[in-house]
Amino acid sequence: MRYISTRGNAPVLSFSDVLLSGLAEDGGLYLPQTWPEFSLADWQAMRALPYPELAARILARFTGSDIDEDTLKTLCAKAYAGFDHPAIVPLTQVEDGLFVQELFHGPTLAFKDMAMQVLGQLFEYVLTQRDEHVTIVGATSGDTGSAAIEACRGRQRLSVIILHPKGRTSEVQRRQMTTVREPNVTNLAVEGTFDDCQDLVKSLFADIPFRQEMHLSAVNSINWARIAAQIPYYVHAALALGAPEREVSFAVPTGNFGNILAAWAARKMGLPIRQLCVGSNRNDILTRFLNANDMTIKGVVPSLSPSMDIQVSSNFERLLFELLGRDATACARIMTGFRSTGHMDVPAEVWENARTLFCGLALDDAQTEAEIRTLHQRSGYMADPHSAIGIAAGRRFRQPGIPMVAEATAHPAKFPDAMVAATGIHPALPVHLADLFEREERYRTVPATEGAIKDAVRAAVLSNAG
Ligand SMILES: *Cc1c(COP(=O)(O)O)cnc(C)c1O
Repeated sequence: MRYISTRGNAPVLSFSDVLLSGLAEDGGLYLPQTWPEFSLADWQAMRALPYPELAARILARFTGSDIDEDTLKTLCAKAYAGFDHPAIVPLTQVEDGLFVQELFHGPTLAFKDMAMQVLGQLFEYVLTQRDEHVTIVGATSGDTGSAAIEACRGRQRLSVIILHPKGRTSEVQRRQMTTVREPNVTNLAVEGTFDDCQDLVKSLFADIPFRQEMHLSAVNSINWARIAAQIPYYVHAALALGAPEREVSFAVPTGNFGNILAAWAARKMGLPIRQLCVGSNRNDILTRFLNANDMTIKGVVPSLSPSMDIQVSSNFERLLFELLGRDATACARIMTGFRSTGHMDVPAEVWENARTLFCGLALDDAQTEAEIRTLHQRSGYMADPHSAIGIAAGRRFRQPGIPMVAEATAHPAKFPDAMVAATGIHPALPVHLADLFEREERYRTVPATEGAIKDAVRAAVLSNAG
């Protein structure tokens, strides 16, 4: 299996190279050169597989000759061993025809673990084969940093350095990162905003000699391997609800468009998916696009669902490329225009095509809180603000006779204030995090300057090597 860039001007790479490099050199995103397809019999055979084996079977089609299915089976078994639910991705019915699939049973209680835990295993495997070491550097406003740290902690061939804006993440989120004791993990509390952190990371990657010297690598949401590792749970839910003989629809609380893109990929591979529903908060660029072909950047507004507070959904570029019939030149032109004007000029027929499959619903904070409350009153189900938005979208677009699965992306205990406000109940943290507030924190405060970050990265890499 080989990978091509959405902008058509980067080398064609193997799975392992895409894994380690992330973004393509031409600024595009990598996609498989051809989509693997599964037959009716292939899907049926997957029904009996435990989740980690199902994941291995699907990933094997993307790794090609780089990593075989047996190896993937071992890696996926290890990746999901720490999940606190025996079904890994349990499915619950909350209303007539409306199901919730919980993706938050991993170490950091958010869906990022689903892919990141696999990524940690894949990195370790590929780096061992190549006898290499890499330094993962990333910026986080919350969930991504802790998921990356959990996936990389204690791995000999990885150093991980995460920048967070000092005092601007929730306490649960910060403690999930800073109470990890393994020496290959470094937390930098940057005296600045999340945007400062992201700019600093970008400037490190842009300094080619530094990047090469430190063997910098990224695990951000545009890494293809993360999308690939998110496909299996859509398959798992669909098979449980009657696929491949019956159709299923999904509703996904969406930010960077990575999670729902994985559902689109599953459909491309032959899974019978009728509808894909995007749930947004007030940062509703995607629902504005789906409803009115209005993909226009506005300022980010903070909301009850911070992991969806975005201006630009990076992974949308992959869908655009596909909807353009894989015309990389057109894709590059549209994306460049988007960067310079803040408005994406999507051809009308492409937009209409997108609307045959995708639909979108946006909820403001008051509507989100109301959804949490009524859902809890009616069914007893506690949905965090992100998941509640997905559930509301699923209910809104559900069609008779076709099961609708809403993806639950975070554990309610991650957002205790919103849960108390909506339901009066303070959800408890799972056992493995129950003492989170007693654990000792470790982080360094650094000024938001390139020099300070570089010194910190160098020091971390040196101490890890020695
Ligand atoms: C990251 C995240 C999302 C958004 O997922 P995308 O793949 O960026 O669309 C939704 N909910 C939670 C809890 C998240 O952490």
